[in-house]
Amino acid sequence: MALREVRIQGDPVLEKVCRPVEKLTDRLETLIDDMLETMYNENGVGLAAPQVGVLRRIVVIDVGEGPLVLINPEIVEQDGEQTGSEGCLSLPGKAGIVTRPNHVVVKALDRKMQPVTLEGTELLARAFCHEIDHLDGHMYTELVEGPLSDVEYDDVEELEDEE
Ligand code: ZN
Repeated sequence: MALREVRIQGDPVLEKVCRPVEKLTDRLETLIDDMLETMYNENGVGLAAPQVGVLRRIVVIDVGEGPLVLINPEIVEQDGEQTGSEGCLSLPGKAGIVTRPNHVVVKALDRKMQPVTLEGTELLARAFCHEIDHLDGHMYTELVEGPLSDVEYDDVEELEDEE
């Protein structure tokens, strides 16, 4: 496994529509492992393949309940509404207020290319929407209400240790 470079907003790869996965090759298996490693390394809750420069419909998510790998994911149901702060590894140090459905149902393939149906509320619903948007070339900043704010990272302890 290896860390991949996370592309930053402005990189044209983040504005493209990704292609579906038809066959899980060794290369794509490695990509998934690398995406998980990169997401954890950056303390993210989700990462989409275009964020590491690969135009394939693959996302990884972990909202603290273990890793989810979604291949060719599609939102098939959504309801409710939640308004809250959202950020993205492709726009480090920033956050903005975005309204999303509070409950979504996603159909996808898992790591073994088996069909799965996943359901999420609150943070997980937000992560599904955010990551799947990336696969169609969309960033959350298109949906932000009001200005973006600067985020202070809460790794204060780490900083203090360095002093
Ligand atoms: Zn993002």
